[in-house]
Amino acid sequence: MSEFNLIAKYFTRPSQHADLGVGDDAALLRVRSGQQLAISTDMLVAGTHFFHDAAPYSIGWKSLAVNVSDMAAMGANPRWATLAIALPEVNEPWLAEFSKGFFACADAFNVELIGGDTTRGPLTLSVQIMGEVPLGLAIQRSGAKAGDDIWVSGTIGSAALGLAHLQGKVALAEPTTTHCLTALTMPTPRVALGLALRGIANSCIDISDGLTADLSHILKASNLGAELALENIHCDDYLRSHLNDRAIQQCILAGGDDYELLFTAPKSQRQHIQQLSQQLQLSLSLIGETTAQSTLVVKHHQQTVDLSSKGFDHFG
Ligand code: ADP
Ligand code: MG
Repeated sequence: MSEFNLIAKYFTRPSQHADLGVGDDAALLRVRSGQQLAISTDMLVAGTHFFHDAAPYSIGWKSLAVNVSDMAAMGANPRWATLAIALPEVNEPWLAEFSKGFFACADAFNVELIGGDTTRGPLTLSVQIMGEVPLGLAIQRSGAKAGDDIWVSGTIGSAALGLAHLQGKVALAEPTTTHCLTALTMPTPRVALGLALRGIANSCIDISDGLTADLSHILKASNLGAELALENIHCDDYLRSHLNDRAIQQCILAGGDDYELLFTAPKSQRQHIQQLSQQLQLSLSLIGETTAQSTLVVKHHQQTVDLSSKGFDHFG
């Protein structure tokens, strides 16, 4: 199958909100007046970001979902994407499933695939996403203020536990296994939340590298510290019942791939955010507070949790 036929068969659909989509030397799109274009790229490499034998549908879903998540974290509305894909071979059943997963995510979040590149090489997916955000309303990492509440959406740590299971480091039982593997392979980007947080959150980030690592990005950009209460972080029942276990603490605090939103907001927004949680039917947990000192302290029922890498690498 030629590259051209492959693109036509698996990656071309009628244009929705671009002036020109797949098929020319470049796509053409219009950003509405008063909006800023938000652009982000995330690359997934086989063997690094997913297992070579991972289900192609989930690889397709996740390659777009992690990018959509970056839009959510900015308070931007995801609109267009390009897909650069390196394939070791033309495997049509694989491509069919991959594109199904990719377009399922595209449809779920109203994103249009407007172009890309296709080449032979070690399996790699690079997606660039573009979204719109009203001028000045993007939620940046640098906006946190001392004394902000720290919030996190959904449940944390399940994706990391799923990964540990696949690596043979823990042996989970159902229904925890399915729950954790779904969290790992089919993350749900929190777009509606990101949009709703415009004008409410002072700062926001999506959790891809782990809760404390991503919180640190906000703290560094905002020149702040924080104190977190581990017991207030919403997590899967399995993790909750083992909260004293270092490996479980590691999943919650250092495990990545949750793609939940971590954000800070003034205390005056508490009620508003709780209402938002009900409207969106998404748990939003108040997990701590930013501080003027530039240190990150995590406590579990008032006891300080040791975050040093030495005592904190059970799955490493
Ligand atoms: P060129 O050689 O001019 O860069 P290509 O032959 O690489 O053009 O691509 C032809 C068209 O197909 C372009 O519009 C490009 O954006 C699109 N395209 C290529 N690969 C993909 C892909 N994996 N997904 C979506 N569109 C793609
Ligand atoms: Mg090309």
